[in-house]
Amino acid sequence: MDKHEIMRRRKVIFAGCLSKRLIKKGSRNIHKELRCCVCGKPLVRYIPYDKSYVTLSKMYYLNVLGFNFGMCRYISSCYNYISKRKG
Ligand SMILES: [Zn+2]
Repeated sequence: MDKHEIMRRRKVIFAGCLSKRLIKKGSRNIHKELRCCVCGKPLVRYIPYDKSYVTLSKMYYLNVLGFNFGMCRYISSCYNYISKRKG
């Protein structure tokens, strides 16, 4: 997936979402594990010694057709994660 494809997907998702919230890194407001719906990067993870779900990096919390998704705040995060994964 190249940068334009990532941009296109993010645009489509933003256009289709009913609401979006910006969630800060370190926030404990999301109570389930979430990955970015564009690149698959883990965004919220359960931290056992903390006994809570912690947001790992700044992200959007989106509602699309009643379903909740996470998405990296910055397109560069998606791009970096995808290019890293490709090796
Ligand atoms: Zn992403």
